[in-house]
Amino acid sequence: MTNPIIWHPFTQHALEPPMKRIVSTEGAYLFDEDGNRILDAVSSWWVITHGHRHPAIMQAIRDATEAYDQIIFAEYSHAPAERLAEGLLGVAPSGLKHVFFSDSGSTSVEVALKMALGYFHNIGEARDRIVVMEHGYHGDTIGTMSAGERGVFNAAYAPLLFGVDRIPFPEQSAEQTTLDAFETFCRTGSVAAILLEPLVLGAGGMKTYAPAVLGAIRQIADRHGCLVIADEVMTGWGRTGTMFACEQAEVSPDILCTSKGLTGGALPLAATLCTSDIFDAHLSTDRRKTFFHSSSYTANAIACAAGVANLDVWKHEDVGAGIKALGERHRENLQRFRDDDRFSAIRQVGTIVALDLNVPASGYLADVGPRMRKHFRERGLLIRPLGNVIYLMPPYCVSAPELAHAYDAIDEVASIILGRQ
Ligand SMILES: *Cc1c(COP(=O)(O)O)cnc(C)c1O
Repeated sequence: MTNPIIWHPFTQHALEPPMKRIVSTEGAYLFDEDGNRILDAVSSWWVITHGHRHPAIMQAIRDATEAYDQIIFAEYSHAPAERLAEGLLGVAPSGLKHVFFSDSGSTSVEVALKMALGYFHNIGEARDRIVVMEHGYHGDTIGTMSAGERGVFNAAYAPLLFGVDRIPFPEQSAEQTTLDAFETFCRTGSVAAILLEPLVLGAGGMKTYAPAVLGAIRQIADRHGCLVIADEVMTGWGRTGTMFACEQAEVSPDILCTSKGLTGGALPLAATLCTSDIFDAHLSTDRRKTFFHSSSYTANAIACAAGVANLDVWKHEDVGAGIKALGERHRENLQRFRDDDRFSAIRQVGTIVALDLNVPASGYLADVGPRMRKHFRERGLLIRPLGNVIYLMPPYCVSAPELAHAYDAIDEVASIILGRQ
């Protein structure tokens, strides 16, 4: 086998078969070069919300190309970014008043960390610690890897990663331990911000916790003057049942990161939203207080137009009803796995479902993940377990029979892996 020219993400080319080309996408499906139709049950890594190539979003992209490409976003502005920023503040939790654009989820989190540290630097308060949650994932840049769970994914880079303070994941009925750990860090007076994924920790294994924990964290943060950064890169845009997951805890973060579903998944774009306090701390006739951050493709006008079109879809279509129906279908399908000794920790938050396959070796590198993927692929499904954690996060347009097919496949594949068939 000749080695590929293209180096694919999170791919061990020595172990994976050559990749099939996708030639088109539509709705919940990918179509490959051999004429196969593949149900995209992971929304192409969690970005596709409504479905692939939503007509209104694709049309908005076509229209935008008649006027725009990339426009420098220092010195100049443009209507797609302005409309998107206004629309975003309209759907975001209250108290968020400013929008900083970038181009990926990782970058939106880097921006959030810089905003938090810049805030305390500019107001002259010596706070530089970041608190994060065990099993968190915030991206693959050096800063976001530093804030994320340490393990085989980032062992090679460990010497360069900065230190953060970690609180335990709030396991059910052990939530107080998490809150106490957070308060203990806060008492040092040096915590600038807590960075966390609200309600669902995605790449860390689709681990879920109760909204009340988020509410309690907000209260502790308030008591100690520490900022709350919500990484809603995965949870935003209806994934957890509400537009943003924070809503379910009635929590407004000081900083919110959004990316994946921002354009309905059509184009790369990200935004970091913040309060007036944070913006104002950078507002000064002293140039040293400027927020020194930019990416070349900041606020790409075509991507922003796609974002505006996505907001219009939310305004004009009953996206909420589709999400609710998908949630109910998940619940019905999941019934068959209750009291099933092949699985444990069956969990659902809105449109996201996860369950652990009861195999002795767990962890991402356990080869059950790749083995399951192969079996799912043979059944026309794109499902990518995280180690022994099987999850579904389909686009909202997925139909009842399509979803049932995914559950049938999970049933079959679980038995094959466990050698019961
Ligand atoms: C995917 C993800 C990121 C990183 O986003 P990229 O666009 O891949 O850089 C950050 N945080 C969370 C919670 C994510 O799920």
